[in-house]
Amino acid sequence: MNKETTNPGYINKNKQMNFGRTEEQGIDHGQWFYTIECQNCNFKFKANGTDIWQRKCSNCQGGQP
Ligand SMILES: [Zn+2]
Repeated sequence: MNKETTNPGYINKNKQMNFGRTEEQGIDHGQWFYTIECQNCNFKFKANGTDIWQRKCSNCQGGQP
C-alpha cells in the first residue's frame, strides 16, 4: 500500500485513486493538481495535491466538482 498521497496508485479512505500529476499548478503554493479516479464508479476528476487524502468523488459521493 502506497502511503504517499501524491504517488500514483495511492487510494484514500474514500476509494479515490491517484492517477498521477497533471501539468496544472494547484491552488496552494508549490502544489499541483492530480488526476483522481473513483474506484466505485470510475469517474475521473482533478484534485489539489493537499486534498487527495480526503477527496470524495464528485459523481457518486457528493464531493466538490
Ligand atoms: Zn464515484
